[in-house]
Amino acid sequence: MKYDCIIIGAGMAGLTAAIYLQRAGKNALVLESKIHGGQIINTINIENWPGDFGVSGAELMQKIYEQAKKLGAKVEYEEVIKIIDGEEKVVKTEDGEYLADAIIIATGTNPRKMSEKQTADAGNRPISYCATCDGALYKNKPVVVVGSGNTAKHEIKYLEGICSKVYHIHHDDPIPKDAEAVFVAIGRVPATEIVKDLTELDKDGFVVSGEDCKMSCPGVFVAGDCRAKAVRQLVTASSDGAIAADGVLKYLSK
Ligand SMILES: Cc1cc2nc3c(=O)[nH]c(=O)nc-3n(C[C@H](O)[C@H](O)[C@H](O)COP(=O)(O)OP(=O)(O)OC[C@H]3O[C@@H](n4cnc5c(N)ncnc54)[C@H](O)[C@@H]3O)c2cc1C
Repeated sequence: MKYDCIIIGAGMAGLTAAIYLQRAGKNALVLESKIHGGQIINTINIENWPGDFGVSGAELMQKIYEQAKKLGAKVEYEEVIKIIDGEEKVVKTEDGEYLADAIIIATGTNPRKMSEKQTADAGNRPISYCATCDGALYKNKPVVVVGSGNTAKHEIKYLEGICSKVYHIHHDDPIPKDAEAVFVAIGRVPATEIVKDLTELDKDGFVVSGEDCKMSCPGVFVAGDCRAKAVRQLVTASSDGAIAADGVLKYLSK
């Protein structure tokens, strides 16, 4: 079976694109490597999402996922490992391959990892990228947070309510000997490995495109946090999803 469009990533950008495409009568397949919802699902209180004050990321994304499914979008949980561009696009996953006329890349970002030196220093101690998810495992135990931005501050505040001691260190500082787990909050990197041979990336690895979300190969669009742009938030990811879907509709009608 061939899909009108394959969307890679079931975060805000990908699921918004699926909603727009299904409503326009197209059949969209969303491929997701982890769980639907994307990077926001561990956030307890979302800010800057108009109309929903204090909603959690998991709650918001579940509603959007259900909306996309109700409109007929298909969601499969498989990691995309390769894209072969052509008039007919081939998307390969660990389990097989899918065909489509168009593709939307909505792969978002992943947490930045510690340097090799700092990782070696952590030894066998658990490394987490989410205090809300894993903090409770270290109740009354000493932990360390690596990072200096707002996310690190947020993680420290959360862990201080649970752990006996929360050390705060910066990128490349030595890890305190008695910390039992390492929480890393040193920014995020784009998940664009699968498109690096297909299109232009900026120096940090984000996909270069105009506001029309078009990539350099015809029929392939980019949406959300993996796109080179100034503001990475839910509203801009959703907006990109709608614009990319509109681009797909125009491309398919040619
Ligand atoms: C801690 C934190 C708090 C935040 N709080 C707010 C907030 O309060 N308000 C706000 O507006 N924004 C907030 N943001 C930013 C917001 O979460 C993002 O801008 C938005 O979620 C980006 O959505 P996206 O769909 O582009 O990417 P993502 O949410 O990253 O989704 C991408 C999806 O693609 C999948 N994927 C990646 N590679 C592949 C592959 N090869 N194959 C298949 N699937 C793949 C991933 O698993 C992921 O599910 C926050 C971000 C973080 C990290």
